[in-house]
Amino acid sequence: MEKCIFCEIAKHNLPANIVFEDNNVMAFADINPATKGHILVIPRKHCLNLFDIESDLFTRIFQLAKRIARIMPEVLGCSGVNLLHSAGESAWQEVMHFHLHIIPRYNRKELQRPFIPHSTDKDELKEIARRIKEKIK
Ligand code: 5GP
Ligand code: ZN
Repeated sequence: MEKCIFCEIAKHNLPANIVFEDNNVMAFADINPATKGHILVIPRKHCLNLFDIESDLFTRIFQLAKRIARIMPEVLGCSGVNLLHSAGESAWQEVMHFHLHIIPRYNRKELQRPFIPHSTDKDELKEIARRIKEKIK
């Protein structure tokens, strides 16, 4: 089986520009940054994505992302950030170990918006909301 790159980074078997680590989570610089200062936050334990991460670990990832994002304007001079998580190949996930992107933003034009809002059928919206509401735990 091929080794997971981010597991190897988490174990310090592969180099990375680490900005924070504890027993549960780690943050390091993305090797091909979308903008200057692009950081990835990962759980040290392997899991695939949003669909299988433990809630406690998910909370820790977002807590760390918040700590990092809040110092970015001062350190990098950015004026905003995007948080991005891709869960599944259809959602563009390429590295199959959970990661949350923190992408510092300097202006509106440097990146493309990942979605275009569409108008849709009002009954469909209502029906989808009803089905999700029914199943939510
Ligand atoms: P995804 O498309 O799965 O959401 O994002 C994967 C991210 O991991 C990409 O932004 C890519 O640049 C980054 N990446 C892939 N391999 C490595 C690596 O070996 N080291 C680091 N630091 N980042 C990586
Ligand atoms: Zn892994």
